[in-house]
Parts: sequence; C-alpha cells; structure tokens
Amino acid sequence: MDYWAGELGNNFIEGIQHGNVMDSVYNFLKSEEPKIKYPYENLFLDNGAFSIFKNNYNKKKNEVQINLNSIIDIQEKLKPKFTIPFDYPLDPQMNIKNMEQNWQKTVKNVDYWTSCTNLNLVPALHGWNKTSLNKNLHLLQKKDFDYIALGSAFILKEKFKGFFGDRQPNKNIYEAFLYLSSLGKNLGIDIHVFGLGASPLTYHFAAFCEIKSSDSSGYRRKAAYGKIILPQTAERYAGNGSATFGLKTKNGLTYKKIFSNEEKKKLAECGCPECRKISKHGYRRWKHLCSDWKIRAIHNKWVMEQEEKISHELIQQGWDCYEEFINKMMEKSRLKWLWAFIRKTKQKYF
Ligand SMILES: [Zn+2]
Repeated sequence: MDYWAGELGNNFIEGIQHGNVMDSVYNFLKSEEPKIKYPYENLFLDNGAFSIFKNNYNKKKNEVQINLNSIIDIQEKLKPKFTIPFDYPLDPQMNIKNMEQNWQKTVKNVDYWTSCTNLNLVPALHGWNKTSLNKNLHLLQKKDFDYIALGSAFILKEKFKGFFGDRQPNKNIYEAFLYLSSLGKNLGIDIHVFGLGASPLTYHFAAFCEIKSSDSSGYRRKAAYGKIILPQTAERYAGNGSATFGLKTKNGLTYKKIFSNEEKKKLAECGCPECRKISKHGYRRWKHLCSDWKIRAIHNKWVMEQEEKISHELIQQGWDCYEEFINKMMEKSRLKWLWAFIRKTKQKYF
C-alpha cells in the first residue's frame, strides 16, 4: 500500500523531506499564489471538501464559500500527480434521499472536472451500504477511472472525526475494505482510503486488505501528543512532560518503563534523519526525541515510510510472506483478535 504523508500547506516542519505527500486545496484557499514550499517527489492533492464542510458545520467559524472554479485553479497551479474532483461527503445523519442527492452532485463534478481540466483525477466514491457502493463503483468504472478514493463519511456532532480517522479499529471497517478491494480488483480499479497510515499496525492491516494507497498525518499528530512510533510496534511515549495525552502513570514514565528490551534495540538501530544524529544508544536517542515534537514527527514519518518499503517487498514475494510477517508482529498484540478476523475474512472475499 502506498503511503502518502499528510502535510498542511505552508505550515510544514522546517527541514522535512517528502517522497509521497498528501496535501489539500483547503490549505491554499487563502493563498494568492498557491505554491508548495517543502521538498517533495509526488503530490496527491485532496480537494478540501471534507475540511470545508467540517469548517462550515462549526457555526462559530466563518463560512468557507465553495467556488468550484477556484478549487480547480488551485489544483492546476499546484500540478499534483493525483487530485480529486470536489465531492459532497455523506453525513450518517442524512436520510438516504439526501445521500443520493449528494452522490449525484459528486458525479456531476466528476464530469465537470473531466471535461474542463487535464488533471489526473481520482474521483471520490461514496456509498451508504454495500449495494450503493457497488453501484457507484461500477458507475465510475464506466467513466473509465481505474483509481478512486473512498470518501470519508461525514460525521458531524461534537466528536467530529473522519469515518476512517483515528477511531478504534473495528471489524466492520476491515470487512468493508476487503469487500471494496475485492470488488475493485474485479473491475480493475485501485482504491485509496483516507487516513489509514497512522501506525504500523493499521497500515499493515489495510495493506493486507489489498488497499492500493492511503495517507495520514498521524506521524505529526502523534508527535505533537508526545508519541513516537517504532517499527512494527504501537506508539510509545517520548513527550516533554507537558503533553502526556492519556499516558499518565502514577509513578511517572521512565525510559525503562516505556520500552521493552526489543524496543530499546529498535530505537538504537533507527536510521531516521534525527536518530542518526545521535550515537546508537536507545536512551540518548529517546532523550533527543523527547526534546521537540518536530524531531518526533520526522522520526515517525521515516518509520512509516520504512514500513511501507517492507510491505512492498514482502507483497512482491507473495501474500503468504506478508501474512507471516504480520503474524509475527501480532504475536503479543492486544489486537490479535482483529488480525485473526481480517485473515479469516480475507479468504471469504479473495
Ligand atoms: Zn528515529
């Protein structure tokens, strides 16, 4: 699964280097001359729909006007490798009729973008159940698309998060991925799912479901909350004491308590641009990562990019090799049950 690191327009970390990067039109709506200022190789540019509707739902914020042609202007100026025609995300509170109307508006935009731009388009797919997802995916296939993005359901109310954001992993989501990716395979369509690469675990699960690509700014968010990720491991704490975020212990967190011996070794062996500055010593590296969230973000992103490399290599060797690798990774995990479910369910769809 291709990993696209999420970026926030000009609010990037000084010194960061991107290979595949996902940015959004939303971050450039106010720019007079939209320009990407960080180094990158490939840009996947989101259309900003989700963020615009999220902003406008919050009545305290100034409403962002939706101007389709200005969105196209930004997309054309930034010359992305892939971009998404403006879509109308669904809100689970909507009735089916409204969801259908939103989908019709989305399709209309797909046609508009196709007719008046030369952009490489990855249309958003929306659906409210298996039947509609199936039907809508067929429609995009008829329009000759071979790469689509699964639209985030629009979850409003106070706890606003994307459908596939940082929520607790659950069986339904992975069954939906397997259903869609097997359907996509039959139709010759690759599927991008937003927001799946926040941790090695969720990344490998989705990759095993044969999702083509995902993006995440989890590397950054976790870093800001004082967390680091290690290869094939859930996140660990490396904060500066002010942002403990659910990881408080009565006795305080120490290096010894946070990391197992195996994890200390992983830290000592980390090849990221920040850890490389420090000798191969777990504790010293941990102190370095504790010193600044930006350092943690660079470390986290690098770790995710390594996971991507490993995943690509193993899939090349065969899905059974990849399965074995995840098996080993999950041996002691508390999410073992979810992995067992994904393995079993994959056989049903593939
Ligand atoms: Zn590192």
